[in-house]
Amino acid sequence: MCAYELTEDSMYNDGNKPPEWKDYKWHLKHSITTVETFEKATGIKLKNKQEIKKTLEKFPLSITPYYLSLVDKENYEVDPIYKQAFPDPRELRVARNDMSDPLHEDSDSVVEGITHRYPDRVLFTVSNKCSMYCRHCTRKRKVGDRDYIPSKKTIEKGIRYIEKTPEVRDVLLSGGDPLLLSDEYLDWILSRIKKIPHVEVIRIGTRIPAVLPFRITDELVTVLKKHQPLWINTHFNHPRELTDSAKEVLNRLADAGFPLGNQAVLLAGVNDCPRIIKSLMQKLVQNRVRPYYLYQCDLSKGLSHFRTTISKGIEIIEHMRGHTSGFAVPTYVIDAPGGGGKIPVGPNYLISWATNKVVLRNYEGVITTYKEPDSYEPVFCDRKCRDCKLQLNLEKAKEEETLGLVKLLSHYDETYSLTPQDNTRSKRNKG
Ligand SMILES: *Cc1c(COP(=O)(O)O)cnc(C)c1O
Repeated sequence: MCAYELTEDSMYNDGNKPPEWKDYKWHLKHSITTVETFEKATGIKLKNKQEIKKTLEKFPLSITPYYLSLVDKENYEVDPIYKQAFPDPRELRVARNDMSDPLHEDSDSVVEGITHRYPDRVLFTVSNKCSMYCRHCTRKRKVGDRDYIPSKKTIEKGIRYIEKTPEVRDVLLSGGDPLLLSDEYLDWILSRIKKIPHVEVIRIGTRIPAVLPFRITDELVTVLKKHQPLWINTHFNHPRELTDSAKEVLNRLADAGFPLGNQAVLLAGVNDCPRIIKSLMQKLVQNRVRPYYLYQCDLSKGLSHFRTTISKGIEIIEHMRGHTSGFAVPTYVIDAPGGGGKIPVGPNYLISWATNKVVLRNYEGVITTYKEPDSYEPVFCDRKCRDCKLQLNLEKAKEEETLGLVKLLSHYDETYSLTPQDNTRSKRNKG
């Protein structure tokens, strides 16, 4: 199966790297998908082989030789790289609150491949392929699912939805990994989306720079450059993933002019430590990647052993805000089960407030006050922007529907409370 025969303990040490090492196709062809190949490639003798094989029947395995080469063989059982890539029998344990599709990406999907959750942007899953199957994948239900390869026809349906939905100004390509599509296919998708007049930006969410940096060929960069403004969000979870090859790729993408962000996931036993996350974020900014989100691990089935408490995430942000560069601090979010979207959480800095005065605390624990102006003359907004003294030029700006908390805060809407649909009290009072 493996054209390049791995000897025990070779583990792709420098001397052992095949001449094709920098060829991403070689890595895809030689991805490790069975326990036997894994043992052969690493010289590791797994203790619980039967259990792992059972896990693989439900959640398949795929690791690129590149990513595998980052595993610390001597300490693999506690290795953060190994844990993200290699199955753990605990994946078969279904915890009480686990769900198959916690973010309602399938049930909230307007057409196949498109989830339209927020007013002005959509998630568009254009690829089911991944070069590595991350054990903590939020779309674990789909991993290795051959039936899910979106055809050109399916993609067309998504594109048509965006075309006829003028409020969509931001299209987020995800998957799978969009960068595993061929250059031509990706070019076609991007060109089609780019042609839609109301689409202002496109973003790509990808783990390629972390798991298969060699895929970022100069040809691919040339294709992507045609479709600016294009934002690229990577997915690094541990400072050890920032290898020389990964850094080279990030710098090349930054040089090509793509704003780079990173979406990390907080994972028990992998990065649930303030020092690890801080070091990761600082390394990212050194390589011109702006930490974007730090995700609380989702409630997808098979992830229970990766979940931390929320308090751990808040503690991590407490260690960062004020202590390091503001642009190195990601927003810690919980992607709400049931499709509620991302909810930011973090330490509380506002301690109390009274008329014209708020009490705050800083990262050092200093308690301070901010005196609000006595003479602030608020603009009571009636949404008649044409007559407004702020003279907002609304040329081309779209009037958006007032939504959620904004409604409660506004002066032009009479709504004074939001009540859940199945609120017991209102049901009782109606009855
Ligand atoms: C995360 C996500 C987005 C983008 O959210 P931002 O906060 O703008 O990054 C859009 N749609 C869906 C369904 C998402 O999960």
